[in-house]
Amino acid sequence: MKHWNDSLTDDQKMFLRTVADACSHFDDAYWSRHEEEHCFPEEFFKTMAGMGIVGMLIPEEYGGGGGSLEDAALALQTVAASGAGLNGCSGIHLSMFGFHPLVMHGTEELKQRYLPQVAVGEIHIAFGVTEPNAGIDTGQVSTRAVRDGNDWRITGRKVWMTKAGFSDAALVLARTRPTEETKRPIDGLSLFVVDLDREYVEASPIKKMGRNAVASYEVAFDGLPVPSKNLVGEEGRGFHALLDGLNPERVLVAAEAIGIGIAAVERASRYAGERVTFGQPIGQRQGIAHPLADAYMQLLAANHVMLDAARRYDTRQPCGLQANTAKFLAGRAGFFAADRAVQTHGGYGYASEYTVERLFREVRLTRIAPIPEEMILNFVAEQELGLPRSY
Ligand SMILES: Cc1cc2nc3c(=O)[nH]c(=O)nc-3n(C[C@H](O)[C@H](O)[C@H](O)COP(=O)(O)OP(=O)(O)OC[C@H]3O[C@@H](n4cnc5c(N)ncnc54)[C@H](O)[C@@H]3O)c2cc1C
Repeated sequence: MKHWNDSLTDDQKMFLRTVADACSHFDDAYWSRHEEEHCFPEEFFKTMAGMGIVGMLIPEEYGGGGGSLEDAALALQTVAASGAGLNGCSGIHLSMFGFHPLVMHGTEELKQRYLPQVAVGEIHIAFGVTEPNAGIDTGQVSTRAVRDGNDWRITGRKVWMTKAGFSDAALVLARTRPTEETKRPIDGLSLFVVDLDREYVEASPIKKMGRNAVASYEVAFDGLPVPSKNLVGEEGRGFHALLDGLNPERVLVAAEAIGIGIAAVERASRYAGERVTFGQPIGQRQGIAHPLADAYMQLLAANHVMLDAARRYDTRQPCGLQANTAKFLAGRAGFFAADRAVQTHGGYGYASEYTVERLFREVRLTRIAPIPEEMILNFVAEQELGLPRSY
């Protein structure tokens, strides 16, 4: 990958070398063990926290690094490309970015209370929007927060809440006004920072295809008490508080998908150079080499859009098209790369020992979450091409 980082500054290259060096202490065997044992990579998390990566997007006044989205995306890409994949990225991603709505809309008191602990990795956090009957259609959220004196109590079910089983706190979207009383279904939703008091919160891990070192949970809230000061932004405008975070989150996930693609192409190229059939390395066959070159170029193209989106976000320019495009192209490019890496390895591609099957399973997620490809296509068709809304 000789020219991969050509467009970066010397400082960025140096920073990424430090990240890559730290990641090199966590090899494929480490990730494979954590994947198989469904065990959170705590040592890795602590290393990233100690290096300031976990807190790099949190403003300096709250104990973070106040870094740019571009650098955070590149850091996550480097983590993924080390072979850590999503098991590495998802472990730290939520702490890096999950409380972004709190940074943007929270009160000073709330920020002081939570952000410094998140920044240094002292606490784990989760994010609860999706529900069994409300995924992309957020207006259908039915978890409710009702007044209890001056405070609130939250009751309902969330699904896919990553890290909720062992997190200390979470951002939770709940309905504070019934849909009949609002103009649009999303208008009656409010966002809260909650302490996950296990007396009122039950989290059950969901069996899933991959990224098993970082569990996602179905979570039942049964009258969880929440102080009124834990409301983030205005009551009834919780969905709007989430909106600011959508584009940067897409950029970060795009960077992760590209990183996985790089890990896959690197492993496949190495293997193709070594594996000999009929007296020659398989990498000499164009049927093996060309798809890898194709995968690399798709990753490179997605990376350019990802960097463009990040730079636009960092300089406060509109970046919706670029962030969505980056996430779409990166998910596809990462998936193609991982698929070709499996194919290049032949039967061994299917064996856990060679890692590419894990990367293949992990990168599939980036085509679904946090937003599925279909919704990005809807966005582009509507917003860029001026076509009528289909739903
Ligand atoms: C491993 C994992 C971790 C996750 N972590 C979290 C988390 O921490 N917190 C959280 O809140 N959520 C989390 N999610 C949820 C994730 O964000 C949702 O799965 C995702 O947003 C899609 O929602 P859904 O699954 O309900 O799909 P649905 O909304 O039910 O959609 C199903 C399919 O229909 C398509 N579709 C729906 N509507 C339309 C339309 N109008 N036009 C065209 N196609 C359409 C979708 O694109 C999709 O392909 C996680 C999911 C996974 C798998």
